[in-house]
Parts: sequence; C-alpha cells; structure tokens
Amino acid sequence: MRIANVDGRLSLALSTGFVDVERASAGKFGSDPQAIYDRWSEFREWAPGARGSEVEPLGDRLLGSPAPRPRQVFAIGLNYREHADESGFDRPAEHPPVFTKFSSSITGPVGVVELPQGGNVDWEVELTAVIGKTARNVAEHDGWSYVAGLTVGQDISERRLQMASPAPQFSLAKSLPGFSPMGPDLVTVDEFDNPDDLALACEINGEAVQNGRTLDLIFSVPRLIEYLSAILPLYPGDVIFTGTPSGVGMGRSPQRWLQDGDELVSRIEGIGEIRQAFVGAHR
Ligand code: ZN
Repeated sequence: MRIANVDGRLSLALSTGFVDVERASAGKFGSDPQAIYDRWSEFREWAPGARGSEVEPLGDRLLGSPAPRPRQVFAIGLNYREHADESGFDRPAEHPPVFTKFSSSITGPVGVVELPQGGNVDWEVELTAVIGKTARNVAEHDGWSYVAGLTVGQDISERRLQMASPAPQFSLAKSLPGFSPMGPDLVTVDEFDNPDDLALACEINGEAVQNGRTLDLIFSVPRLIEYLSAILPLYPGDVIFTGTPSGVGMGRSPQRWLQDGDELVSRIEGIGEIRQAFVGAHR
C-alpha cells in the first residue's frame, strides 16, 4: 500500500490515481495525513476494500509530506561507513549520533528551497521511516513491525551554521525552512522484496552525486528502532531520517555547495523521487 498527502488530504496512491480516504471511508477516517498513524492497524485493515472507490488524478494539486507534523523527528549521522570517512569522523560502533530536524522544516516532495545568504548548503539523500505504532524497548528482530512505511527524505544541511558554534549544532543547521522535504508517497514495508537493501541516489542538474544501498547502513532501520526505543518511546507518525551515503558536498575536494538555479533530485528504489529547486536569497 502507498499513501500520499494530496493538498493536505490523506489519500491512497494507486497506479491509476488517488483515492481520498475521508470520502471513500464515509468519514470513518479523517482527512489529516498525520492523524492516520494513531489508527494505523485499523486503517491497514480497511484500505484494501477502498480500491473500488473513485480515483482522481493529481491534476494541479500538490503533494505534501506523508508525515507532515510528527511529534518527534530523529535524524541519524554517520550511518554509512564511507560517509563517516568523508566527514572525517570515526565510524560509530555502539552509539549512532542522533539529532532532530525541527518539524517546521518538513515540506512535500517537490518545491523551491531558498538558500540562506552566506550559507554553504549541502545535500543528503536518506531513507526515511515513519513509525506505525508506539515503540518502547523493541528488539531488533521486531523492528520492522513498528514501521508504517518508508519514503524519500532529504536532510538538507547548512554547513557553516552546523560548524559555527564551539561544538557542531546539527539540529538548527538542518532545519531551515524547506530543509526536510519528504515524499512522494509512503510505501508500506510489505511492498519491498527486501526493505533492508534499497538503492538510493541523488543528482544535481542531472549529474549523479550520491549512489548507495541501504544494505550498507551501519545501524539498519530495525536496529535504530531497537536503539532509540530503549532510550525513549517512539510514537505513531514519528519520523526517522536514517542517514546519508557518501558523496555529499562537504566531503568533496574542492567542497561543493548548492547554488542559485540548481535542481536536486533524490530517489530511492521502490519509492520514487523528490525534486527541489534552489534559489538565492533576496532575489
Ligand atoms: Zn543526514
């Protein structure tokens, strides 16, 4: 199953178009995409019966994030070996670096991002998981059963701000407006042949800059759920940005940053792609 946020309304995403969940369920489920995760198992049972409902094209409506207002957003640093190396840090062994991306930075899959003046803005394509039921002290082998689905995320990062204070501050530097695009759909785990091995990539103006596989994650999605849920509860609708493979601008020689006019396309196998256009500040 795939769900989407169509102009703020929860929808089933079919190959032929979109089914509005509130209308197709005669009000049993509301229109708010974020609220559905609190009733995820009930919704999963209902959804297959909705396939005969009216299907509409996207038309001129816009897709939003499939999880637009999570209670908690977790983001994992240094979770691919080669990315840890290019960042100049040791590879984490027992404790992944974890920070948040504030929810005001979440946007849908296609849009325009304004570059801050004087900033060094970098790209990080990431497999992004949305939680489907409250998780507390979950064992790794049960981890996937707590995931509602997977989507494409970009952990856009302003490196100057990230490094400006005496200790790096990830959360603010990765939470400027539009810096957490997600989408296009949320794809349930059962849709993947192997959810632990998905190709992910991103490109700038058609030039490939990142190419990886989630098999190379140091902390897999179920392992992250075990790790995080041992420390605090994960709530339905919470979001985990799982980390980025190598190929970011900061790790290049010379370093490279997103520029006015650049288009960033990020994609993950079996999910789809998101697309951000960057504009300079005060144009
Ligand atoms: Zn990241």
